[in-house]
Amino acid sequence: MKKSRILIVAVFTFGLVAGLTLNNYGDMVISPVAAKSGQDKPKVSPVEPRDRDYYAPNSEKLAPDEMRVIACGTGMPTTRAAQAAACFLVELGNGDKFIFDIGTGSAERISSLQIPYDYLDKIFIGHLHADHFGSLAEMFIGGALMGRQKPLRVWGPSGRTPELGTAYAVQKLKEMYTWDLAGRVGLVDFRGYTVEVNEFDYKAENAVIYEDNGVTIRSFPAIHALDGPVSFSLEWNGLKFVFGSDSYPNKWFAEYAKDADLAVHECFVAAPDLVKKMGFTPESALLVGTQVHTAPEAFGKVMAEIQPRMAVAYHFFKDFDTTAAVNDRIRTTYDGPLSLAEDFMVWNVTKDAIKVRMAVVEEATWAPPLAGAAQPPGGDPDREKYAKEMDVPVESLGYSDFIKEGRWGEVDEVLRGVYKEASEKLGQEFPYPENQD
Ligand SMILES: [Zn+2]
Ligand SMILES: [Zn+2]
Repeated sequence: MKKSRILIVAVFTFGLVAGLTLNNYGDMVISPVAAKSGQDKPKVSPVEPRDRDYYAPNSEKLAPDEMRVIACGTGMPTTRAAQAAACFLVELGNGDKFIFDIGTGSAERISSLQIPYDYLDKIFIGHLHADHFGSLAEMFIGGALMGRQKPLRVWGPSGRTPELGTAYAVQKLKEMYTWDLAGRVGLVDFRGYTVEVNEFDYKAENAVIYEDNGVTIRSFPAIHALDGPVSFSLEWNGLKFVFGSDSYPNKWFAEYAKDADLAVHECFVAAPDLVKKMGFTPESALLVGTQVHTAPEAFGKVMAEIQPRMAVAYHFFKDFDTTAAVNDRIRTTYDGPLSLAEDFMVWNVTKDAIKVRMAVVEEATWAPPLAGAAQPPGGDPDREKYAKEMDVPVESLGYSDFIKEGRWGEVDEVLRGVYKEASEKLGQEFPYPENQD
């Protein structure tokens, strides 16, 4: 893939984000008017809208040849409001969307994008640390509640024993939510409350694990904590996205991430800050910061080797007093295009340009629109099916007489009023449920 000019549209916080590629003005697109200081300013309309320099969800069409990547989590296993843990959303011009890792807190970021949940049914998990799949339950159950009308599909690696694989983790997660699911079955459109697992061999080297609609996703091994972790590449329409979950720098990434347009790889907090900010002993800072994870200097070496059109570093707390250390250390070994990721950073990738911006999102969102028609609750047939699948007695899917008798009758009249109001206002009779169980 040929190297193209990187179009940098905006320079963010302290020039520490996109600005890193801009030690000179070489790659910047500057209008002739803006470039000549001291001259008459161009006329700006007081009433017409101007181009935005940020991404507002659902305001831009994705071109047929375009890939948009949004960071929905860039942080660490130690939780914070400012950064969720690992999660990158890839949206393609053919309409397909893929989620790579679903770390703790990332489901909230995804909901801010207001994408119908039927389009968010494919999740690829690079390894089974909580900061890389801790929000799976929210996507499974919350995603169905917010409108997913089909099973959630999960891809993830095997481990050295069945208990260390993705299928085991997802099965146990489903079992953990037995009460939750049992309490919903029969009462809601239950089509989205299932999860399919596609477990593949963690040792597979650049093996195709997904191929559909012109999209090919491959897996290759990573080195992190135990056998099992992997990295992914996604190729579509001549564009290549690579996602490293966690890893010590490894030979597979150095080989199979080559020619990436966007290469996402972990880049850990600099060792001195692990001591200063996280209270690590120097011994554990050195061990965790350089051997379990990828140190910034090593991240730079990896990127210098694979030479992506844009290198993306994540997995560090990106604060005003920690970012410079990460940047400076990367720059000892790598001088190519670089994004130091934070949540809601957006990359629009085409063959001609990579545009880097931040998304500005709404926090107080409700469920996005449905992609398909809603279906009324399935009632008893759903309950019976679920009871069989989960080995739960069907009689237990409802209230016992003991609990039913605890209903406080004083509210009966006002609640009947709510039904009456709906029937009158909507011109349709809604019968009051007399014997609720
Ligand atoms: Zn990890
Ligand atoms: Zn991690």
